[in-house]
Amino acid sequence: MIKEKTKGLLIVVSGPSGAGKDTIVNKVVESMKNIKVSVSMTTREPREKEVEGKDYYFVTKEKFEECIKNDELLEYATVHNNQYYGTPKAKIEEDINKGISVILVIDIQGALKIKEKIKEALFIFIMPPSMEVLKERLIARKTETKDKILERFKTAYKEINEYKKYNYIVVNDKLDVAVDKVESIIKAEKCRVDRIEDIYLNNKEEFIHEGLIDKEFTNEDMRL
Ligand code: ADP
Ligand code: 5GP
Repeated sequence: MIKEKTKGLLIVVSGPSGAGKDTIVNKVVESMKNIKVSVSMTTREPREKEVEGKDYYFVTKEKFEECIKNDELLEYATVHNNQYYGTPKAKIEEDINKGISVILVIDIQGALKIKEKIKEALFIFIMPPSMEVLKERLIARKTETKDKILERFKTAYKEINEYKKYNYIVVNDKLDVAVDKVESIIKAEKCRVDRIEDIYLNNKEEFIHEGLIDKEFTNEDMRL
């Protein structure tokens, strides 16, 4: 049986706050194998239901700045004006080399930094079906104060035009359709020839099966 040997993908998912990134990514990770979400580090306050180490690593500004100084972050950015968010480097490379894909749910500034550093990363932009729906979702999520919702909505207006810098765009209208599209993109990317290690070299035994290679084929070889 011929096996395709691939490294895991580094998948960057961005889009305005409230577009549905976390909702989609959580479903993708539940249903696909060998894929995980990277847990970011942030200086913002935890929301009521958020869990340390699962949703974020919640740290002080001093601790975050120490991580920057020690080069422990793959990228970081100041989001929504005043809070640090960053991707810890540890384990990402190890997972990818083991064939596990890692999803980063990060803002556009962070995504552009990754684009400069890691050419083979895959970039997916999640777009809300309309700004009106985005506003409704931000309000209905009930995780931010009015001021913070307004801040996120303002940021969304700036971010939405950046979708052209991504490889794929998925409009999140019906959730199951959006999840299916993201899964299809990931599956297709894993089949790309330039992402697969040399099939011939990695499957030599299969190709030289019964000594057929470099030999004149006869009907007998084919059992005809
Ligand atoms: P983001 O991670 O982009 O900030 P969330 O995943 O938190 O966004 O989604 C924002 C809100 O919208 C959440 O309350 C979520 O349940 C809801 N939501 C996400 N996708 C859809 C969808 N396709 N239809 C309706 N509501 C959705
Ligand atoms: P929230 O406060 O709603 O959880 O996230 C705010 C924004 O920060 C979102 O756009 C989210 O994608 C982004 N974000 C979360 N983690 C990171 C990260 O590690 N790096 C960067 N650059 N942005 C992040």
